[in-house]
Amino acid sequence: MSTPSLRERDARVIAEIGRLRFSPLSLVGGRGNRLIEEGGREVLDLSGSAGPAALGYGHPAMVEAVERAVRDMAGASLLLYPNEPAVSLAERLLAVTPGSGERRVWFGHSGSDANDCTVRVLAAVTGRSRFISFIGSYHGNLSGSMGISGHTAMTHTLPRPGVLLLPYPDPFRPKFSAEDVLALLDYQFETTCPPDQVAAVFIEPLMSDGGLIVPPHGFLKALQDRCRRHGIKIVVDEVKVGLARSGRMHCFEHEGLEPDLVVFGKGLGGGLPLSAVVGPAEIMDHAPAFALQTTAGNPVATAAGGAVLKTIEREGLVERSARIGKLFSDGLRALAEKHEIIGDVRGRGLAVGVDLVADRGTRDPVPATTTAKIIYRGYQLGAAFTYVGLKANVLEFMPPLTLTDDEAAEGVAIVDRAIEDVLAGKVADADVASFMMW
Ligand SMILES: *Cc1c(COP(=O)(O)O)cnc(C)c1O
Repeated sequence: MSTPSLRERDARVIAEIGRLRFSPLSLVGGRGNRLIEEGGREVLDLSGSAGPAALGYGHPAMVEAVERAVRDMAGASLLLYPNEPAVSLAERLLAVTPGSGERRVWFGHSGSDANDCTVRVLAAVTGRSRFISFIGSYHGNLSGSMGISGHTAMTHTLPRPGVLLLPYPDPFRPKFSAEDVLALLDYQFETTCPPDQVAAVFIEPLMSDGGLIVPPHGFLKALQDRCRRHGIKIVVDEVKVGLARSGRMHCFEHEGLEPDLVVFGKGLGGGLPLSAVVGPAEIMDHAPAFALQTTAGNPVATAAGGAVLKTIEREGLVERSARIGKLFSDGLRALAEKHEIIGDVRGRGLAVGVDLVADRGTRDPVPATTTAKIIYRGYQLGAAFTYVGLKANVLEFMPPLTLTDDEAAEGVAIVDRAIEDVLAGKVADADVASFMMW
């Protein structure tokens, strides 16, 4: 009998529900900006593991910080005792996040628990129970964060009662313009959604899982102004696109937002489970509303967070993300000249999406199988990436912020070849059937 592969062993023991894998890639290691699959082949990682791998894999700063924190471990629970890495990280996060007055930081394990906690504390502090968010938005997969999400992958769960889901204006498929959405909000405020019942609006400054949609300039600011007028708090979910990913430290800076609360996750932990909420003390110091999670803010995860923030500064990763992101997306944009299937290349910094269309005139999305085949072929050719979008037609690129010029060029060449090969029929439906998701 032959030894079972990692993939076969995985299929026997790991729950299948909610696994987003679009290729047979199974990992035994990672080095730099490359993932190492069983058998030892190295694959260029253009996915960043969906965002967390901000510094790639095995970055010396991460190794050093995590090793030190675990070797001389300052307890395992911030609930019981303050620990040095958590307090230092909170100080650092406050220093890099704009805001005034007394502010506090809450730590969790994931973007989901951070948004959950934010919903709960805002309802408790404001005494208001309604929230506004967007169709297509993804804020997490725990009950509170699912309840304010508007992704089609969430339709198995009912939204939180009182949530108002607005369309997110999409410049590429402008079903609703920014003006339409604001007019709808005004009408809701006048009629069935009295603004004094609304605690907060949850904003993705760049809609990620909903299709990597960059909002029309000025829309979010206008939304913020309308909400502020009614005492509605502005929550910006920077989980996926924050901390240098967008070519600015915070993605909300591109639109000049002034959030009351900012939610961090994914890249903050550099791959370790870590999330944070930054907000005013009068909101955050509300102990009864907060989920007490024993290991949240533990010294190992927060030491990793400290290493991420220090490395962003030391290696100039904000500027690098802007520069390499432009190089990479310009490369992809050039591919649009030969591949009709590329309808749009968009994003900010190293958060890049390629919108695949069946027809450039109508901009109808390609079927999900086409997207999956390109991802599958990309894997065969040596690069890992995934997809997003309510119609699963947008290739998502969230590579490590440490991606080099050469790797960006290598990535573009692989995407080029993968598209060419798929259009030439080199991947069969059966090849991707078992990897399809939403
Ligand atoms: C991924 C994501 C979350 C949830 O984070 P998890 O770590 O998966 O719980 C929340 N908000 C946004 C914008 C995300 O992309």
